[in-house]
Amino acid sequence: MVDHILKVPFLDLKIQHAELRSRLAAAFDRTLNFGWFIQGHELKEFEQEFAEYCDATHCVGVGNGLDALHLILRAYEIGEGDEVIVPSNTYIATWLAVSYAGAKPVPVEPDERTYNIDPARIAGAITPRTKAILVVHLYGQPADMDAINEIGRRHNLKVIEDAAQAHGALYKGRRVGSLGDAAGFSFYPGKNLGAIGDGGAVTTNDNVLAEKIRILGNYGSKIKYHNDVKGYNSRLDELQASFLREKLKKLDEWNKQRQLLARHYLAQLDANNLALPFVPDWAEPVWHLAVIRSKTRHALQQHLTQTGIGSMIHYPIPPHLQPAYADLGLENGVFPIAEHIHQEVLSLPMYPGLSTAQADYVINA
Ligand SMILES: *Cc1c(COP(=O)(O)O)cnc(C)c1O
Repeated sequence: MVDHILKVPFLDLKIQHAELRSRLAAAFDRTLNFGWFIQGHELKEFEQEFAEYCDATHCVGVGNGLDALHLILRAYEIGEGDEVIVPSNTYIATWLAVSYAGAKPVPVEPDERTYNIDPARIAGAITPRTKAILVVHLYGQPADMDAINEIGRRHNLKVIEDAAQAHGALYKGRRVGSLGDAAGFSFYPGKNLGAIGDGGAVTTNDNVLAEKIRILGNYGSKIKYHNDVKGYNSRLDELQASFLREKLKKLDEWNKQRQLLARHYLAQLDANNLALPFVPDWAEPVWHLAVIRSKTRHALQQHLTQTGIGSMIHYPIPPHLQPAYADLGLENGVFPIAEHIHQEVLSLPMYPGLSTAQADYVINA
């Protein structure tokens, strides 16, 4: 334990909640007074507002980000015996959604500069069992969707976005969440748009899919007590929807703050000794995380800790080397790019409310 107060915490959600305190309290009162807590007015309004925000026709609120991805796969009837292409470099939830549906995750290596799945490597992983490509906009940076959609079209595959880290990011001026067949979002508190608890959503322009997900997430029922399919309970509750409506109004401003901080880091950090984030000219990332790479990560992180700066590793172990995926028999060395990235990455403080003075302190350290 360090015995002094952290000067720059890795993340501080108290800042955004202090800013919105009275609005969040009013939303709580509104919902409590109305007395309806599951699938009511707040959810309906939030779904409409978030669909509009993503330039998508539909938004369906669900329990969390993992469920959002799982329900998309289930609604497309992807499961036992099917394969889904996933990035070798991602948070494990992306893979777990595929496993949860009963299908097999087939990893494809990232582009070493953007950290996102490398479109040039996807075709080599496609087999007759492949049903979808599950793309991640990692760290808030959009993946190369035109190239990926083209592969999807050519091989008749669904293209699904894992947009859990990228609320509001732009690809060639278009919002993530409507760039493939469907997208899964997480509203886990630390995401760019976070609830005060768990939450998630699916966005899509596919009318049939949206209706199926609505039914699957609500016990397989469209009309109460009439069950057409074996469904789940995965819903975004009224309180979380009411909080998210207030936070959605701030999302662009908060993302802009992240972009300014990122610009500052990029301009001031030592590019000779660190690998700084690379942004393709078609991408407008929303910097869920500010990830640098260092050959001496361990020492760097220790030094930052001693200086009172919080940092984290996203992620220390790639999914294929996790005990949870030992059954796939993917050994150390099979995905060298992902493994290399996982050995060197370090995430610096990045959140709305982080001051320029604090960012300078990080940069100097
Ligand atoms: C957070 C996250 C998820 C899962 O979201 P939950 O709401 O925690 O279930 C999925 N994919 C990625 C890339 C994430 O960062």
